Amino acid sequence: MKLVANIKLHPSKEQEILLRSTLERCNEACNWLSEQAFGAKTIRQYDMQKAFYRELRARFELTAQVAIQCIKKVADGYKIDQKSMREFRKHSAQPYDDRIFRVMTGDMISIWLLGGRQKIAFVCGDHQRKLLEHRKGEVDLMLVRGKWYIACVCDFDDPALLTPDGMLGVDFGIVNIATDSFGNEYSGAKIEAYRERAVKRRATLQRIGTRAAKRRLRKLSGIQQRFQKHENHCISKAIVSTAERSGLGIRLEDLTHIRSQVKARKEQRKRLHNWSFGQLRTFVQYKAKQAGIPCEIVDPRNTSRECAECGHIDKRNRKSQSEFRCVACGHSNNADHNAARNISGRGAITHPMFAHTFVPCVVESPRL
Ligand SMILES: [Zn+2]
Repeated sequence: MKLVANIKLHPSKEQEILLRSTLERCNEACNWLSEQAFGAKTIRQYDMQKAFYRELRARFELTAQVAIQCIKKVADGYKIDQKSMREFRKHSAQPYDDRIFRVMTGDMISIWLLGGRQKIAFVCGDHQRKLLEHRKGEVDLMLVRGKWYIACVCDFDDPALLTPDGMLGVDFGIVNIATDSFGNEYSGAKIEAYRERAVKRRATLQRIGTRAAKRRLRKLSGIQQRFQKHENHCISKAIVSTAERSGLGIRLEDLTHIRSQVKARKEQRKRLHNWSFGQLRTFVQYKAKQAGIPCEIVDPRNTSRECAECGHIDKRNRKSQSEFRCVACGHSNNADHNAARNISGRGAITHPMFAHTFVPCVVESPRL
């Protein structure tokens, strides 16, 4: 499977200036090239290289490999859309290959910048360090909110799948973001309070509607995305480790119903819309895969109406959003816990289900 490890650079003041001028120069080069190529209708990499390589290098004083990477970046841009001229942001990410980038011992990288190679210190966590051992191919130099990163694609063999003793069912979304079939709840008061606050602040800003408010809204949405992503990482990690400790596989419900079919009150719906369950599911899936734990997706129909004790399905079993009481056998439980137990007992509708194994870890789009 492929994962992206982001390593954070710690450049000196001089190196930071070089990084910035290199990234800006590369994007100027790409923009120049994009204009030439679009004008001359030579948007394929091979044609572009033939026509403009020399001038590109000379004009922007780039080393051969950097010029090639710029050509590739522009050509890749035109692969998506040939109808309009591609433009690159001033600090759009720049790809590097192994001839101009290397990870060295002692937490240093060697990278080509304007004026020659530089050795720059980096920091990364244990998890990323493990990933880095499997780094392959190109990396991206990125400037994200004033900090420098190298995004490395790491490709490694999947561990063999363990044979589980049973399945841990996980219910998404109604009252808690995630509840498992043991009854563990994975979203605390912190997230709930945050979600409520976020909804209110967004509504207020939308009502104000001035340019400043819109700017603030955009910024807020970035902050929220990062918060969600962090929480989703924590929740998925906790779910996978619960399964791992108990020798269980994981069963998740098919999420397509969360937005469309759930008959929730308006207030509830707002809360559901407000969380990225797709991301959470993806995180659970790839973390499970990394740990060798089977992960299945099951049909969610009636999980919230069915009694986990006697199997009786009835709308009236659901007393409220949070309370379940079976009209047939009288079994009562937290509604999410009951649903998670049902999920745990269901057969998979699709398995193995690893549609998205490639999980980029940066909020901003890495290219263009
Ligand atoms: Zn029952």
